[in-house]
Amino acid sequence: MSSNEILFQRAQRSTPGGVNSPVRAFHSVGGTPRFIKKANGPYIWDADDKQYIDYIGSWGPAILGHAHPSVIEAVQEAAALGLSFGAPTEAEVLMAEEICRLVPSIEQVRLVSSGTEATMSALRLARGATKRDKIVKFEGCYHGHADSLLVKAGSGLLTFGNPTSSGVPNDFTKHTLVLDYNNCEQLEAAFAQFGSEIACVIVEPVAGNMNLIRATQQFLETMRKLCTEHSSILIFDEVMCGFRVSLGGAQEIYNIQPDLTALGKVIGGGLPVAAFGGRSDIMAHLAPLGGVYQAGTLSGNPVAVACGLTTLKLIQESDFYSKLSHHTKLLTDGLNGLGQELGIDFCADAIGGMFGIYFSKNVPTSFAEVMQCDAESFKKFFHAMLDRGIYLAPSAFEAGFVSASHSESVIKTTIAAAREALLEIST
Ligand code: PLP
Repeated sequence: MSSNEILFQRAQRSTPGGVNSPVRAFHSVGGTPRFIKKANGPYIWDADDKQYIDYIGSWGPAILGHAHPSVIEAVQEAAALGLSFGAPTEAEVLMAEEICRLVPSIEQVRLVSSGTEATMSALRLARGATKRDKIVKFEGCYHGHADSLLVKAGSGLLTFGNPTSSGVPNDFTKHTLVLDYNNCEQLEAAFAQFGSEIACVIVEPVAGNMNLIRATQQFLETMRKLCTEHSSILIFDEVMCGFRVSLGGAQEIYNIQPDLTALGKVIGGGLPVAAFGGRSDIMAHLAPLGGVYQAGTLSGNPVAVACGLTTLKLIQESDFYSKLSHHTKLLTDGLNGLGQELGIDFCADAIGGMFGIYFSKNVPTSFAEVMQCDAESFKKFFHAMLDRGIYLAPSAFEAGFVSASHSESVIKTTIAAAREALLEIST
């Protein structure tokens, strides 16, 4: 038995399913999860000392590549000064100032420790500020695991949602309206019917949790217009796409200002930092100023903030995003070329340092189209790539991530492996 298999058996005795977050268990692709020993640059090594090129990047945070020396140094320096104080620090002020400067729609920001906390708190804030209960989300967007967000569409159009997790009472999701992504007509209809009751609309402006799906400009503009007209709060969940698709996030690319933004992943650089922020008149409803309660023992943790601040500094170097985008596009152009060369329904798309791989003829534009992709072929492809030392997300419905350390030669190695893998699975 391999070390990965031995560890997985042991893990399953002490931890449900052997993992601390479900997708890590390889359930949708089968096989044994790789237990990671160490990581450096674009590479990770598993418990059997096998090296892989990593396209998960800790599900987004590792935008610089793993264990960047400046980040490690900053973390070590901060750790030597004490791990946690439960009191304000200068570094938190710097971090807040930096986020507000880089994302102009954010006038004030509060730090938390996970993306789930960020979106959950943004929702509570939106409800508190508007004194309304109903919220709108979109099928296929993931916003963390807060009760009222673990919802799928109800049985009829414009009916309120049903929980997607047991343990979530129907009562907790009865205020959540779940609509189709990129469907402007449904949005218009929802606001026509419930506009004065809708506290907020929450959306991934570039969706990365149903594979990578781009919002259309019209979809986000319609959302912005309707929220303004009905005094509802527009929340962009940029936990994944923030600082990933460009320095100013998806809101910069689309040139649309949300009222609130949730951030995470990249802003922590690999340690637990997330944030939510936006218009200061809305943020003023938060405790200790206002009546919306939100708190955290480890919020703004000094070691995590040192990691995040250094990461934010490094991604501002000139050409950072043009190089990142160029390398990501090199990868997806190569993969698209393979689909054409080999005559198979296989394509890819990229925005900034984020990409999607689809076993379909064309890049999907909706949740329904993503669901049409050939998940069986993905499963085979995933394992053929893993065998060749390429570590992709173990699900056909997750986006992939390229880091600044994925050089042209790393990308070329990946495309060559993909060619072999596609040939293997199509014979
Ligand atoms: N929002 C989005 C868009 C995400 O992709 C995720 C996690 O993948 C979350 C929220 C939740 O973040 P976390 O896993 O840090 O709680």
